[in-house]
Amino acid sequence: MAAIDNGGYSMAKSYNILPANAKCSRCRGRAEIALPSHHARFCPDCFDTFFQNAVARALKKLKLPQDRELMVAVSGGKDSLATWDILHRLGYPTKGLHLNLGIDQFSGPSREAVERFAQPRGLPWSEYSLQEEFGFSLPEVQTRFRRKICSVCGRLKRQLFNKLTVKEGFDILVTGHNLDDEAGRLLGNLVGNRQEFVHKQHPFLPSPHPLIPAKLKPLYRVEIKEILIYCELRGIEPAEASCHFSKGATSHSFKDALDLLEQRMPGTKRSFLFSYLEGKTPPHSEGDFGTCAHCGQPAWYDICGLCSLKRQIQDSRDRKEAAP
Ligand code: AMP
Ligand code: ZN
Repeated sequence: MAAIDNGGYSMAKSYNILPANAKCSRCRGRAEIALPSHHARFCPDCFDTFFQNAVARALKKLKLPQDRELMVAVSGGKDSLATWDILHRLGYPTKGLHLNLGIDQFSGPSREAVERFAQPRGLPWSEYSLQEEFGFSLPEVQTRFRRKICSVCGRLKRQLFNKLTVKEGFDILVTGHNLDDEAGRLLGNLVGNRQEFVHKQHPFLPSPHPLIPAKLKPLYRVEIKEILIYCELRGIEPAEASCHFSKGATSHSFKDALDLLEQRMPGTKRSFLFSYLEGKTPPHSEGDFGTCAHCGQPAWYDICGLCSLKRQIQDSRDRKEAAP
């Protein structure tokens, strides 16, 4: 399989770099994979066991019964495909949910990666498009929110995923967020002193409203590098293109900072996140939701976030058209 270069890591760097006499930490066979943050080396089979155990342990900690049906948000990237694969292997009934954002050279290959994964495994999935669900594609949204596009896209996806998960008849939505994402987000929220978000950071968020599903992040205990190795070992081929709108996003800087610490002190990233999560129970986020006057979805104000974004884009389009 061709080397995957994704998120700054290349398979060639993380795999097959050990001398021939290196021993697997579990079975004492030939080790091919080094995981400095665990002070461990594994052969491919024992790496697979290690990865499965990490996710199974996460789900056990979150007390998720094995017969719960899970809707998995799949972008076609390595994280969400690995999430879907491992949940399926662990015996959970799953269905994929893919949202086509309408981005040139990104959305097509992303969709194909989902299909390439799901079809041979016989896994069901539903596809929706931002254009149809929201009325605008992401490039159109971008003309209105230039610099803030990543946070707007995140908000759009969150709200549409809520709505679509409920429409599909599921009450838990799974995403592929990994240890690097969660540690980077925690650092960003601490640096910005956003206590409300710090408090809400947990790999399982219970449903705060009948129309909002619970959220689950089964990969929060595994790193990007480990996910890439898992994908290669399992023959999973994620979409390689990354979204060009996300270049220079501030979330990347916090991850880079943690990577620097990790290089000098392996294990820092996981101990930073896990020491924060230690003993923390899922936060209760029941709120005083009202109902959106336009679409009937739960809302904090008189109209929901989606309808408010839609209005802002429409207004800016109207202003442009009215301009001489
Ligand atoms: P991101 O916010 O792009 O880092 O993605 C985080 C997680 O959201 C991914 O691991 C997926 O589970 C989910 N996700 C992102 N984009 C999509 C999409 N277009 N369709 C379905 N799920 C997505
Ligand atoms: Zn609304």
